[in-house]
Amino acid sequence: MGANIDQADFSHSQDKDRTKERMKNIFTCWDEIMNEVRGKEIFLFTDYDGTLTKIVRNPKLAILGSRTRKILEKLLATGRFHLAVISGRSIEEIKNFVSFPHTVYAGFHGCQIEQDGIKQQRKAPFSYQKGLIKIKNKLSAWVRHSEYLRLENKGDMLALHYRRAPLNCEEAIRTRFLSTIKKSLSHDSVSILFGKKVFEIRPKGCDKGWAVKTILTRTLRGKRKTLSIFYLGDDMTDEDAFQFLSAKGITVLVGHRSSKASYFIPNQGEVYFFLKKLYAAISLKNKFNMRG
Ligand SMILES: [Mg+2]
Repeated sequence: MGANIDQADFSHSQDKDRTKERMKNIFTCWDEIMNEVRGKEIFLFTDYDGTLTKIVRNPKLAILGSRTRKILEKLLATGRFHLAVISGRSIEEIKNFVSFPHTVYAGFHGCQIEQDGIKQQRKAPFSYQKGLIKIKNKLSAWVRHSEYLRLENKGDMLALHYRRAPLNCEEAIRTRFLSTIKKSLSHDSVSILFGKKVFEIRPKGCDKGWAVKTILTRTLRGKRKTLSIFYLGDDMTDEDAFQFLSAKGITVLVGHRSSKASYFIPNQGEVYFFLKKLYAAISLKNKFNMRG
């Protein structure tokens, strides 16, 4: 479950989704996981909304809770813990909520990365950008006449939010959204994300799996470091990272549904207890090091 620069294999696994029954509750497997991570530094990749914080009606109010903030600060202070926050929001937006030292940020589901002060943006092909302009115009016209919809411009991505729409309108919104895209972009250049009350359009290949791969490659470059990698996420957009890490990391779904993750944390409120247990394990290790 660890990754070493010499052993790293970044090819995608063909794992199928695990059903709810096949996924294990991480708390009931804790000893087994701690055996795997013993002696290694930890790299935690985590999503933000719905993972570190509860999903809220107004995304601007998704503030990180003080106890979660404190436990992350304590983990970072051990010197044996690395953190990357990977979100569908922009990096600027996510840093308004989470701003820790020595932390990596990935925004727009991995299309932009900020690591060691270096910013990287994955550019979409011209044909995609051209098609996206057409779609943006069509969706803007639709949203202007709807009280339920909100269009978010994310550079090479677009997000159509329908959190305020009544349940019985969702299928009609989905159908119209898909037909709008079909007319302007070919399926081999675009990837559609069906998130929680949001549809997102992004260039193919630009996802959280790509972000994790890029961040790990840079972290491990030139170092003979062995890391224990954890990935926490609640959304469908986290599945690309679960798949990429399937043989290399401890993948944890927040919530309980079919997923490529190996483990689950039953609900967002228990993420704090996961972080607390991780801190207890790392600080115990530090004590042994001091004695040794
Ligand atoms: Mg999320």
